[in-house]
Amino acid sequence: MESYNSFSVARQQINEAAKILNLDKATLELLITPQLETNFTLPVNMDNGDVKIFQAYRIQYNYARGPAKGGIRFHPDETVDTIRALACWMTWKTAVVDLPLGGGKGGIKCDPKSMSERELERLSRAYVRAISPLLGVDIDIPAPDVYTNPQTMAWMMDEWERIHWKHSPGVFTDKPQQIGGTEGRRDATARGGVITVREACKVWGFDPTKEYAIQGFGNAGQRAALLHKEILGGGKLVAVSDSRGAIYNKDGFDPLELVQHKLKTGSVLKFPGSKIIPHDDLLELDVEVLYPAALENAITSANAGKIKARIVCELANGPTTPEADLILYDNGIHVIPDILGSAGGVTVSYFEMVQDKYTYFWDEEVVHQRLDKKLTQAYHRVQEAIREKNVHPRLAAMVVGVARVAEACKLRGWV
Ligand code: GLU
Repeated sequence: MESYNSFSVARQQINEAAKILNLDKATLELLITPQLETNFTLPVNMDNGDVKIFQAYRIQYNYARGPAKGGIRFHPDETVDTIRALACWMTWKTAVVDLPLGGGKGGIKCDPKSMSERELERLSRAYVRAISPLLGVDIDIPAPDVYTNPQTMAWMMDEWERIHWKHSPGVFTDKPQQIGGTEGRRDATARGGVITVREACKVWGFDPTKEYAIQGFGNAGQRAALLHKEILGGGKLVAVSDSRGAIYNKDGFDPLELVQHKLKTGSVLKFPGSKIIPHDDLLELDVEVLYPAALENAITSANAGKIKARIVCELANGPTTPEADLILYDNGIHVIPDILGSAGGVTVSYFEMVQDKYTYFWDEEVVHQRLDKKLTQAYHRVQEAIREKNVHPRLAAMVVGVARVAEACKLRGWV
């Protein structure tokens, strides 16, 4: 029976990479274990006068290569194991793109859609008050993730600065630009993914001007819809989905109008000219590129065999289970794994930290060029590892990331 516990999945991936790299027992044990975990509760005053207690987490998975880095999610299904897995994946993600950072992740179990703006602000500030000594530009730098955004980061940064009585904008990334954010951060995850698709098309001869589909229409999905056409010079967006449902149009959607519809109505449903299809059908469409941009475990052994896309570019974290990876590989589908395909966001977060340290900000073109260079190099490094080790793309990316982290642990004398 296939395991859907994300942290078990993450550990299985490390074990496989460790075998290929012949890692010693102590290093393996270090890498399958989070270095520092904080589980805490947040009492928050709700608008109706009640006090509600929220469960919160921050995990600094590994900081051998630099301060921990990774987003904070607000999600009703959050558990310590989802955060462990996500923190673990951030560790390999920062290493695959060769950033001087470790990996971390945080989360609050809550239903942000049912909370008011003021409640979300109190929750965000409470999170930072509870663990502020554990955060900092040289310790751990959060960013947005599922259901958090630049406004969340602005509140969190402000709270941290009030407590520590100094300006330190780089303690959170993907902030609004007026208070230390960078150009090019909002579309960076999608841009990075589309850049890797461009490279895959060059190397493997795929045709980016054919159909593409997007599962999940949050920030990354929406930006991918727009950037696919812009960067690849074509393509027909035939299907998208969000938590409320999936829609299809064989003649293609106008990505900009669809994004505007989503922002206006809160959902992709009821977009003019669209037909509702079952969620699973979207993943199984005959398209050139499929972008999973929602949550973990979307592609499993139950549906992997039915996927017809030529390229699966993962903008979400952990959308494919290990069993599904093998099926996709056997079926000749080119997977661009999350730790590569979604690495654009953290790459520009790193650029934001650098600019905040210098208090000197780059033009948008500079951010785009530097992101392009990082992601292109990382894509080709992973392709080399696929050839060298004769393994599927996720394992190759893991091998690149795990090797770099293991080396840093060794150099520090930890193992
Ligand atoms: N939440 C994003 C990710 O999963 C960005 C993390 C960051 O910028 O620190 O990659």
